[in-house]
Amino acid sequence: MANDAGPDDLQAKIAAIRAAFLEQLPARIATMEAAAAAPGGAAELVRLAHSLAGSGGTFGIDALTDVARAVEAAARARLDGQDAGPVLAEGLARLRAVAEEAVRSGPLPPEAEGPRGDRGQRIYLLEDDAEQAGWLASQLRPYGYEVTPYLEPAPFAAAVREGRPDVLLVDVACGGDLLAGPDTVSVLASEDGGAPPAIFLSARGDFQARLQAVRAGGAGYVAKPPDIAQLVDQLDVLTGRAEPVPFRILVVDDDRLLGAGYVLGLERRGMVARLVTDPALALDAIRDFNPDLVVTDVMMPGCSGFELAAVLRQFDGLLALPIVFLTGDAETGARRHALDLGADAYLVKPISLAELADQVQARARRARQLRTLMIRDSLTGVLNHAMVQEHLRTEVARAQRDGAPLSFAMIDLDHFKSVNDTHGHAVGDRVLKSMARMLQQQLRRTDLVGRYGGEEFAVLMLRTRAADAKRRLDLLREGFGELTLIGRHPFRVTFSAGVAELLPGEDARRLAQAADAALYAAKAGGRDRIELRAAGSPSSTG
Ligand code: GH3
Ligand code: MG
Ligand code: MG
Repeated sequence: MANDAGPDDLQAKIAAIRAAFLEQLPARIATMEAAAAAPGGAAELVRLAHSLAGSGGTFGIDALTDVARAVEAAARARLDGQDAGPVLAEGLARLRAVAEEAVRSGPLPPEAEGPRGDRGQRIYLLEDDAEQAGWLASQLRPYGYEVTPYLEPAPFAAAVREGRPDVLLVDVACGGDLLAGPDTVSVLASEDGGAPPAIFLSARGDFQARLQAVRAGGAGYVAKPPDIAQLVDQLDVLTGRAEPVPFRILVVDDDRLLGAGYVLGLERRGMVARLVTDPALALDAIRDFNPDLVVTDVMMPGCSGFELAAVLRQFDGLLALPIVFLTGDAETGARRHALDLGADAYLVKPISLAELADQVQARARRARQLRTLMIRDSLTGVLNHAMVQEHLRTEVARAQRDGAPLSFAMIDLDHFKSVNDTHGHAVGDRVLKSMARMLQQQLRRTDLVGRYGGEEFAVLMLRTRAADAKRRLDLLREGFGELTLIGRHPFRVTFSAGVAELLPGEDARRLAQAADAALYAAKAGGRDRIELRAAGSPSSTG
């Protein structure tokens, strides 16, 4: 999985790809020289030069792109019957010189890029009240945030310099010093390494305290005791987790090295990317990988990127799939062609990995926002009822075909009506959001989370046995039950759930009924518990 690799890992892989590109460069140029010498080799030379021009800049050798473009133009001229011999010879000689120089000076370090999409979750907390600190750590842990508390500014600052956490949580007043927190962060920010983003906590809402926090470069200011849901919202934004599900990008490029470079560039930005080097395999890869967006090269043997797009558009389900073309041709004719095919972007090669990531991320985000309006529940952002039903039907059919286990869970908050009655509907809404976010963050990527009804959620766990599903949901149940929520007064909420594993021959409707019956049993059994479908009762009704 892409996100298992740390940013340093990815940088190292990108460096390795650059080195591999340099290593094969002399052989590529030798092939081009052979094509130039062979009678009728001009078409092949056009192709080789074109592909080299399209990758040089991506691997940090801009001069290679310029010279390769000149060779491509000369080869085209020869193809058109002109005598391009001297120009071609000169171009090839320059190409070899540029390549030799590049090999001599070794691979460039990869372009600098902060891991913007990195899903960091390490928080250092400065809080002089040990009990408060422990409480905060326990409240944030279920959301996947590891909090390391420090009671005093000096060891806190030393630890930040050493450990580079993702976010700082800083109590404004410390040990009687009313502005110790902002002062500490200001000092860190003025140093070479700078300070990670900081959220200030304060019992004081007054202007002076807020002003000091702003001056220290505070990214947020939260009143004590913090509303955990709100705090998590801010942390999610600061750590790039606001996009809780990373974008999935399919890259289609016949140049394996270049394609691998693109994949790493996208992964470095927190996306999950996969490479297909044969356009004929793209359709299967799309079905299997379910990308948010496809990036495709245009010039590929066997099937051009434009042709591939036309094929994909034949499928109703893929009409809205964004396609970004990468091509060495900046010609307007090709651009029009791409736009006719519903291209979302037309990017000219060579493209730097950072630029590619920018373009792809922006378009994937927009596409997902549009889709979200149709398929997501507007309050919680998880799948809506109709989408849960649709996924349930397709996954049940797939599981029946493959024989892979599949578990379905129905979750219902306990005594939720009394939350609304006691604390108001707005607080109830926030509880629903916390629940949804926790389900999304704590379950696996392949688990589908939806809001089934008012305070009911559904989780579809692929390739999961009921006992494993129950174990994972039980962990979640314990974490959720320990959360202190803030309303008229602090309170807690629990949930009950019913889990059913798909039986051979069973359809989606009966599976859902079985989960619902198990949920009913959990409620009847006292709530705050999870029940499995009763053995020997395939489906309650039928
Ligand atoms: P039980 O433990 O038996 O599930 O009790 P309950 O109170 O949770 O169940 P009941 O079905 O009696 O009440 C569900 C409540 O959920 C009633 C309704 O006000 C509340 N609810 C449903 N949708 C929403 C919503 O979108 N926002 C808020 N705030 N409350 C909602
Ligand atoms: Mg309920
Ligand atoms: Mg209910």
